[in-house]
Amino acid sequence: MLKGLFLNGEEKITNNTYPLYHPHTEEKIANITQGTQEDMKEAISAAHNNFAEMKALTSNQRANILFEAADRLLERQEEAAQIISKEASKPIKAARGEVNRTIQTLRFSGEEAKRLNGEYLSLDAAEGGEGRDAFTIHEPLGVIGAITPFNFPLNLTTHKVGPAVAAGNPVVIKPAEQTPLSSILLAEILTQSGLPKGAIAVIPGDGPALGEVMNQDERVKKISFTGSPEVGKLIKSKAGLKRVTLELGSNAAMYVDESCADQLNDIASKAAAGAFSYNGQVCLSTQRIYVHESLFEPFKQALAVKTKEIVFGDPAEESTVVSSLINKKSQQRVLDWIAEAKANGAEVLTGGKGKANGVLPTVLANVDRNEKISCNEVFGPVVLINKVKNASEALEQMNDSRYGLNAGIFSNNLSQAMNMAHQLEVGQVLINDVPTLRFDHMPYGGVKDSGYGREGVKYAIEEMTELKMISLNYK
Ligand code: NAD
Repeated sequence: MLKGLFLNGEEKITNNTYPLYHPHTEEKIANITQGTQEDMKEAISAAHNNFAEMKALTSNQRANILFEAADRLLERQEEAAQIISKEASKPIKAARGEVNRTIQTLRFSGEEAKRLNGEYLSLDAAEGGEGRDAFTIHEPLGVIGAITPFNFPLNLTTHKVGPAVAAGNPVVIKPAEQTPLSSILLAEILTQSGLPKGAIAVIPGDGPALGEVMNQDERVKKISFTGSPEVGKLIKSKAGLKRVTLELGSNAAMYVDESCADQLNDIASKAAAGAFSYNGQVCLSTQRIYVHESLFEPFKQALAVKTKEIVFGDPAEESTVVSSLINKKSQQRVLDWIAEAKANGAEVLTGGKGKANGVLPTVLANVDRNEKISCNEVFGPVVLINKVKNASEALEQMNDSRYGLNAGIFSNNLSQAMNMAHQLEVGQVLINDVPTLRFDHMPYGGVKDSGYGREGVKYAIEEMTELKMISLNYK
């Protein structure tokens, strides 16, 4: 299959292509037209030229486009899930889950388009301000540049496109090289649903080359980036006065406190799901688990049992939970980090070995906090479990990270859980859930190296609009 760029409302195929391989089966899925810097400039021009038309749409019309797109995606849900599963090696059940979430993200975006309200201001609060009424409105910014990662190629792209459209902005997408097909499908569906042609484009290709054009073009008013901290920091350093939202990496931790003795099997199941869903390639994957010393041994055994039940295989199989990683380089990196931790005394409870282009679900116990696998984002199916004396030690270890996206606390001691929640250095705290939890209307984003700004439909829309104040002097 030859797949083109999505530009000016249609497919553009050129001879300049790159091959896309299935990460697990290694079959060639497609030849993708490689976007050039000229294509990126053309996409930005088209988006800019469509800004007036986008602005002229009523919020009702923008909402209806998003609702229709949700309905059309629902009709094509299995096709979309197959695309995600093949290009990202995502187990088919998880891929279906992503499509379902994308439908909800589109619907939330449509609902929020209708709620883009300002506020009334009493200007008479200031001396001399009497006799005036004032209010605020949210105006769209202009062209939004969306740069997206491989791991949730449909829903995370929609987290940028849905709010952009809801606010009245055109958008240009630079998808991850490995997963362009999901974004192209989304752009096709939105255009079929009535989005002005040219108000959305998808330009796959080289990140640095295409990102550079987006960053330099002053018509792009905001870059919304999801990906690694290294690239995010680079983009922000070059963005000038553009707005930037950065959704970056993580190394999510959770704590199981001494009050959870009766729930260990249930918590272990949830922790295994949080650590191994989509092969651990989830930004808020559960990576570090701290357990109160009184429960450490039974929890460790329960987690090992749950992990051994997890099926590794072809992502097309219904039973598969863990499959190949996005590429062999990732596999090697994860195996190297495991080997290093093991050589330095970590205990491998299960897994620890490669299979196909992936890694078997792995539980490591008693891992030194300075190991690469402790400090960095593993982005693979590995979870670390360590013993702590009490909640203060758990808190200190959880916060000992350059990342700060999500954290989980399991506790029946409300006071202790709330105290920890206030002190955790993260964007979201989930009490009695694993950190691997996101609903698409939640505010979502990180602190430290995990990010800058917030997504979650309503919050992303706020960051994609300019606040204007209008006052009326009726004296
Ligand atoms: P990545 O940073 O390698 O690539 C992300 C995107 O940036 C791709 O489209 C890539 O082509 C592009 N890119 C690369 N260099 C660029 C440059 N110089 N200028 C502009 N764009 C450039 O990330 P990835 O490997 O695709 O995704 C994995 C990372 O994403 C992990 O760190 C993960 O935690 C993070 N992530 C974060 C969230 C979140 O919401 N916080 C969600 C998903 C993934």
